[in-house]
Amino acid sequence: MKKIRVASLYKLDGVKKDVLFVLDEFGKILEKSQFDGKSQDYIFLDGTLFPTFVNAHTHLELTDFENSKNISNLWDWILFVVGKKRSFSENEYIESINRGEQIFLSKGIGCIGDVRSVLPEGPYLTYFSSGRVFFEILGYSEELFQTKLSYLNKFISLCNVDKGISIHSLYTTPFSRTLNLIKRAKVNEIPVMIHLGETKYETALFFDRKVSGFEKIFPNSEFEDLNVKSYKEIIEKMGFDKNVILVHCVEFNKRDWDMVKERDISVVLCPCSNQYWGDRLPDFKYILENKIRFAIGTDSPLTNRDMNLRKDSYLILKSLNFKEKYFKQVFDSLTYVGREVLKIKGSGLERGEKFHALFVPGVYDEKELFEHFFNDGKIYIIDGDIEDDKVFKKQI
Ligand SMILES: [Zn+2]
Repeated sequence: MKKIRVASLYKLDGVKKDVLFVLDEFGKILEKSQFDGKSQDYIFLDGTLFPTFVNAHTHLELTDFENSKNISNLWDWILFVVGKKRSFSENEYIESINRGEQIFLSKGIGCIGDVRSVLPEGPYLTYFSSGRVFFEILGYSEELFQTKLSYLNKFISLCNVDKGISIHSLYTTPFSRTLNLIKRAKVNEIPVMIHLGETKYETALFFDRKVSGFEKIFPNSEFEDLNVKSYKEIIEKMGFDKNVILVHCVEFNKRDWDMVKERDISVVLCPCSNQYWGDRLPDFKYILENKIRFAIGTDSPLTNRDMNLRKDSYLILKSLNFKEKYFKQVFDSLTYVGREVLKIKGSGLERGEKFHALFVPGVYDEKELFEHFFNDGKIYIIDGDIEDDKVFKKQI
């Protein structure tokens, strides 16, 4: 048994002072309570403890993919990604996924939202104990769609972690099929993740009917006519609700965001990835001012060379002129709210879980914590296996 006393614990509703964790020999939390003043033989963490970060949208299987650099057109880019994916062996995929997990863990990420298009029989996550794997459906051809569907069935019955369905996007999976998959996810009580409004090319396809690029990917299909004029109308016609997580949403205008809010939909913002296309970033001010539930994701190295959530959060704050009033919302998205978006219950700090958290020494309140974080201050990973003399060894 091991005891850890913490000067300050960051919670959504404020900082809790002087908390005692009692762990078993494997680092699992047996008790979490206010320090009673009597317990002895504890390790004292003199600073603030908070949950590990959430990377709510990435593609671990693409970790070892190179950035495509010169491709600035969505349709050529998709052809490039799909082509490259097909040239990878299963072993290479497993290595890529494992490496991705290790990279993110070493950066203080303890919870992951991973979109997966291969390995329907697993292993799904090797090193991560918390996260959700979304199996990706993509395909305008009947053959590809049916193959994906049979993989999805296996995935839903065999998956050893929290799971979800990813409909890659509404231009790679027909609307009618998307509707059925959304219904199915509801029956199975699992969330659906969809890339939507990522680029101007997508907007041109949906609303201006510029299908020439689309035909490059699906030469034998006709793009369906949903007869929509805005993302708001797509959200309404497709019946998206709180079971749906939309990713990117760069192209959304205020009315689209109002519909996201009205329907209690969660979103994942990937600013560094969005910069790759060079167009623009989502309307962060409107999202934060209107308290839309959001998480933050790195996306994959194909569109984000750094894969560093801290950079993504800087980019959001930079667009907001580093106004302090937004610090808490961004920090919460990286910790507690990111887990809400992915519908993950634990935080690595609850009874019954393996103790896994982040820590800043010498900091005791919210204001100091946010300033430390957004000014690139040192953060340490604290695991249940710490010993007195090596508490601060793992720095991110
Ligand atoms: Zn993505």
